[in-house]
Amino acid sequence: AIEICGLHKWFDEHHVLKGVDMTVDSSDVIVIIGASGSGKSTLLRCVNRLETYEKGVVRVHGEDVPEDEGYINKLRARLGMVFQNFNLFPHMTVLGNVIEGPTQVKKMKKKEAVEIGRHYLAKVGMSDKEDAYPQTLSGGQKQRAAIARALAMEPEAMLFDEPTSALDPELVGEVLSVMRNLAEDGMTMIVVTHEMGFAREVADTVGFMDGGSILEFGTPEAIFNHPEQQRTQEFLGQIL
Ligand code: ATP
Ligand code: MG
Repeated sequence: AIEICGLHKWFDEHHVLKGVDMTVDSSDVIVIIGASGSGKSTLLRCVNRLETYEKGVVRVHGEDVPEDEGYINKLRARLGMVFQNFNLFPHMTVLGNVIEGPTQVKKMKKKEAVEIGRHYLAKVGMSDKEDAYPQTLSGGQKQRAAIARALAMEPEAMLFDEPTSALDPELVGEVLSVMRNLAEDGMTMIVVTHEMGFAREVADTVGFMDGGSILEFGTPEAIFNHPEQQRTQEFLGQIL
């Protein structure tokens, strides 16, 4: 489980997270929705310490995350992250990208890493592209490779930050379908997305983020059909 308690984040004077509380149980899929600038990316980045935070606690499987750099690197290895812009290494093949973490961070032997890498490339339907370089791939293929790269670290949870926002509309479905399969396999996931169909069908819980806090959590049916907060209603009214 991931527990976030009273999380506050400032960028200088700018108070960006204003006391976020959230618990993600094992195998839960939490989808975070909310307007641009509400703090969704910052929240995910605080969970795996790509950002520091000034107040609050993040626990992964009951353990507090201390300031210690070695611990933070271990934490990152336990949480897979997928970004909007893929962030693949351009000078490495798809398989090279996928085995980079296992060999460099986990110090795994190359042969074993390749075996694991191929397993996850198969899972995302990218087996035939293992020798391709990122610039020769479609956006959907890049994102599936990025998901395989995160999975090859065998993380305890996956964090997705708008994984389909940079994709042409016809490529969104293949990435969402990989994410849906992961959820069905029991992966613990926090997903920031504007894909309301995905949220409705796959999320256990939807959180609406506004102005640095999560105004309400609910089942997809509760959030989409009868949100309690007026801000949630307004937001959904704009995007649905
Ligand atoms: P979007 O939907 O556009 O991705 P978001 O909900 O992910 O938005 P964040 O990127 O978390 O929002 O940003 C929250 C606030 O923090 C914004 O006001 C943003 O300008 C500010 N912010 C984010 N990153 C930084 C930074 N590195 N330095 C200063 N301010 C930042
Ligand atoms: Mg963002």
